[in-house]
Amino acid sequence: MIQLYIPLNFLGVLYREIKQSLADMEKLFSLLDQSKEIADKEHAPSLLLSAHGSPEVRFQHVNFSYEAKRQILFDVDFTIAAGSTTAVVGHSGSGKSTLSRLLFRFYDIQAGAILIDGQNILDVTQQSLRQAIGIVPQDTVLFNDTIAYNIAYGKPGASEEEVIAVAKAAYIHDFIVSLPDGYQTMVGERGLKLSGGEKQRVAIARTLLKNPVIMIFDEATSALDSKSEQMIQTQLKQIAKSRTSLVIAHRLSTIVDAQQILVMDKGTIIERGTHHQLMALAGAYAQMWERQQHSNSGTSPDAFDGIQT
Ligand code: ATP
Repeated sequence: MIQLYIPLNFLGVLYREIKQSLADMEKLFSLLDQSKEIADKEHAPSLLLSAHGSPEVRFQHVNFSYEAKRQILFDVDFTIAAGSTTAVVGHSGSGKSTLSRLLFRFYDIQAGAILIDGQNILDVTQQSLRQAIGIVPQDTVLFNDTIAYNIAYGKPGASEEEVIAVAKAAYIHDFIVSLPDGYQTMVGERGLKLSGGEKQRVAIARTLLKNPVIMIFDEATSALDSKSEQMIQTQLKQIAKSRTSLVIAHRLSTIVDAQQILVMDKGTIIERGTHHQLMALAGAYAQMWERQQHSNSGTSPDAFDGIQT
């Protein structure tokens, strides 16, 4: 019995690991497929960025569908002022993450325009566009290599000092040096498994090293304890500092200071303003806020669900 149990148990672990990596590969392949459809125009210039700071980002009457039969975004229109933070909240499936995929030009839109400092993202090279944008995703894929390599990936050729500086800024340095092999610790599928929060901090360090002028932060949906919550808020401020930022938020407490909050529902923006303006409006956002205050942890990422809009 025991003899049978051990290999089966081992196979179970192996299966879960393979499934996980297949999911990542699927993501990768679907991205590769999409990039074949997305082509640079002939002689497209690079995105021009001002030497004086981050650019303005504008979504101008954007309509978008992944598939012909089902429209996902309807006349989405907003501006993120240069160097400011815009947060997007709303039901699961309302189209929040789609905005970040479109800004990165993983897909092309069907109507409207996405402009960076007045330049249509369709007209500039994808390479220069993606160089300008840093993404901290919900779930970061780590390479089977050292933590140092995984951070330095943000900037090929980065020095050890640079890697340590960004690890400190992302509050992951102390954790790294507490490991027996420090920055040389192997991570990824075959190395040390990091928690969701630790992985996200590696992603933040990587992004700080890339030093993009535009920042997309896709907040993890999993519920957090209040210490991690505070850490995320501090980190968000750190990475958003003087950068034009788009934050896909699941917890309202992390975005109360955002210069603009967009509330999305079924692919449209139904409310917009600062936290105080939206509270005064006493609409969907205010309901969501109330709901999160009354939920036990105050951090339930599902607090928006079930609200009538
Ligand atoms: P969540 O809070 O759960 O992350 P979201 O608001 O970010 O949700 P999106 O990921 O933007 O939602 O998805 C919006 C809609 O687009 C959903 O109905 C989803 O099913 C659909 N969708 C997302 N990705 C694809 C895709 N690759 N192909 C087809 N439909 C998609």
